[in-house]
This record gives sequence, structure tokens and C-alpha cells, in this order.
Amino acid sequence: MDLEKYKLQIEAGRIASWIRDYARNIVKVDASLLECTELIEGKIQEMGAKIAFPNDMSINSMAAHYSALLNDTTKFQENDLIKVDIGVHIQGHVVDTALTVNLGNNNKELVKASEDALNEAIKLATPGRKLKEIGEVINNTIENAGFASIKNLSGHGIGHYIIHTKPTVPNFNNNDNTELYEGQVIAIEPFASTGVGLVTEGKPSEIYALLVKKQVRDQTARKVLSFIEKEYNTLPFAKRWLAKHFNTLQLQLALNNLEREGIIKQYAQLPEKSKGLVSQSEHTILVLDKPRVLTLEE
Ligand code: MN
Ligand code: MN
Repeated sequence: MDLEKYKLQIEAGRIASWIRDYARNIVKVDASLLECTELIEGKIQEMGAKIAFPNDMSINSMAAHYSALLNDTTKFQENDLIKVDIGVHIQGHVVDTALTVNLGNNNKELVKASEDALNEAIKLATPGRKLKEIGEVINNTIENAGFASIKNLSGHGIGHYIIHTKPTVPNFNNNDNTELYEGQVIAIEPFASTGVGLVTEGKPSEIYALLVKKQVRDQTARKVLSFIEKEYNTLPFAKRWLAKHFNTLQLQLALNNLEREGIIKQYAQLPEKSKGLVSQSEHTILVLDKPRVLTLEE
């Protein structure tokens, strides 16, 4: 296997791996969620890469898609369970990785369950492996630990400037017989929960992504749109990023306008349906006979 064409993704993975350790060190009781987010996003750029999506810090029963809001005042508290989800890219070569920071001693088993599920699943990221087998080992590992695997969240393929593409890498046996192939890049991301194991759509996240490129009449909306196209292309972006370049009120009107026109979409926060606690572990993996974990590079 010639790894030359994965060079930039391997480099992005090395940076993401470093950032994951950095996140573990700065996320502490009383630290500000917004400040930690900006530190992480700043570090990614200092290291010579770009942010593939707004850094997520989803706390306790919030499973995913909580990114610092504009003027977010959240501070981490004792016993918080924080899913830090990190996206890094170099020239569109994306990697996606997540860890759970545990600010207490109560939920060690829950965190271990998603980590163990990920480690077991990685062993199966080999050519010819059926997707359902990966889902099965994830679900079994988490259930055997006494928790529920979140079934309506899943891993995914990664494409050039695309974070989520085929295939869906399930967190349970979904009967998908599709086989992995050599050279494919996938993210595997088990979530373990003390709840029923489902997420539901919550509040708007202030994370958006461009859907289609088309004309808008409103002048401010047009300016915001051309900024989005230039800076983020099709990758997700945060309202708080744009607020550094535009007047807040005008920005909100422009975003509402673009959303109404179907030009951008806003993601919803994803809380666990029964308010159960949630842990997550994620790596980006190159499918090979000996799978290579791109987000665990030295
Ligand atoms: Mn992720
Ligand atoms: Mn992912």
C-alpha cells in the first residue's frame, strides 16, 4: 500500500492526536467552555492545519453537537463528563477524533465502555469486513459493560472536504453486509450511555454548513455568504466565528435569511433522549490488513 497519497491526512492526524492530549490537559473544573474551545481551535491553526468543524464540547447527557455559543458562559463543573470532538484538516484532508474528559470519579466505567468498544472495533477495520460486524462488536462491548450503545449516532466515511460520507459505520448490528475495502478512511465513534441509547434533536447549535451555492438579494446576506464560501467551503462553521467579522445583529439577520432560503443549514444539538449520561470515543482509521489509526500518530 502506497501511503504517499495519505500524507496530508496522516499529518492532520498527527496534529489531531496532539490536540486531543492538549484538550485533556486544559478541560478542568471551573475552566470556561468558550475559552477552552478557542484555545483548541487556535492551537490547530498554530500547528499549521485548519479546523474541519467547530470544536464540540458536549457535557453529560448532551451526546454531540454542542459547540460554544456566541458569548457562551458555561464553566465546567465537578463530575462533568465532557465529550471533546475535534476536527482537523490540511487542504481538505480531514480527520475526526473525540475523547471524553471525566471531571470526577463516578463514571469511569462508562468512559471505559466507549473506549473499549472503539479499540475492539478498530481491530475489525480490515478489508472485506462487513459493517454490521463492527456495529455488533461495539454494541456487545458496551452492553456487556452494563450500558446502552447509542444507535442513532454512527461513524462514517471521510471524503475530501467532506466530514460525513458513505459508509455509515453503525454502533449496533444493523444488518449492513457492505464490506470495507483497502485504503478507505473511516471514523469509528461509539457512544455509551446510562440512558435508553438514543439521541433526539435539541436546541439549535449555532453550527451551520453550506448546502447549495445560489444568489441572494439581501446585501448583507450576500457578503456573509461569500465569506462562508471562501473560508469554509462545504465544511461546518460556527456563528461565533463569523461574529468576529460581522456586526452581531446583521449577522443574525443574514444567517436567518440564508437558512430560510435553504442555502445553509443549522445543526441541532443532540441530547440523549432519556437524559442519560453519555461517553464517546472516536478515531479516524485507514482500512488495511493492519488498520492504521491516523489520529494516534506520534
Ligand atoms: Mn467527531
Ligand atoms: Mn465523526
